[in-house]
Order: sequence, then C-alpha cells, then structure tokens
Amino acid sequence: MTADPDCIFCKIVSKQIPANLVYQDEHVTAFRDLNPQAPTHVLLVPNQHIANTETLEPEHDAIVGAVLRTARSIARSAGVGDSGYRLVINTGRDANNTVAHLHVHLLGGRAMSWPPG
Ligand code: 5GP
Ligand code: ZN
Repeated sequence: MTADPDCIFCKIVSKQIPANLVYQDEHVTAFRDLNPQAPTHVLLVPNQHIANTETLEPEHDAIVGAVLRTARSIARSAGVGDSGYRLVINTGRDANNTVAHLHVHLLGGRAMSWPPG
C-alpha cells in the first residue's frame, strides 16, 4: 500500500492521527470532516495515496468505484439516501483543494444551492 509520510489523510488511514471514523475496509476509509459544512459531512479516501484526479491511472478504476459505492452506502446509513446528497471532489487551486490526497466529500442533511460559489 503506497503512503506519503507527510500526508495527513495517509496518517488518518493508518491511524497515526485520530479521526472520527465512519467506515474502513482494505480499500477505503471514511471519516467525519473536521469542519463540517452540512449535518452529514463525511470524507471518503482511498487507503492508498493518490494525490488527486490529475494523477488517476487506469489501475485506480476499481478503487474509485469502491469509494463511490461506499459513499452511496454511507449516505443510506446516514439517512440521506432518499432526501439527497452531494458528492464533491475538489482538484487544484480554483476548486479550493487543500489536502493532496484524493477525497470525496459526502454532504447531506440540508438543501444545497447550485451552482456552488
Ligand atoms: P478539500 O478542500 O481539499 O477538498 O477538503 C479538505 C477537507 O479536509 C476540508 O473540508 C477540511 O475540513 C478537512 N480536513 C483537513 N484536515 C483534516 C483533519 O485532520 N481531519 C479531518 N477529519 N478533516 C480534515
Ligand atoms: Zn495520502
């Protein structure tokens, strides 16, 4: 499993630093965002270090699929499967991406506007 020793999300995956874990299996880790923007705000990350969507390779297709299916499952468990939810992946400066480990934001539990600001 590739990890970046300086990456905060790699450290959460390996439990070197604490997080409010929601789910973990051999491929995916989900934990509550430190600064929640909605009643449900969970971050889902591949356990292996992938910087962002710009560094995705075909070999990552299965892991990305697993991340999305896990998001669906967590949304259902959180009770927002029917009311709706938003999955967000930020990449780069204009998207305000701050952590360089690929992650999906699962946001739900309130109505959200579109387009985002
Ligand atoms: P980005 O802007 O890169 O898409 O989102 C990074 C997210 O990670 C932010 O929503 C931020 O609140 C969250 N975050 C940053 N550091 C930590 C941390 O140490 N623990 C947790 N649980 N969330 C974090
Ligand atoms: Zn990482």
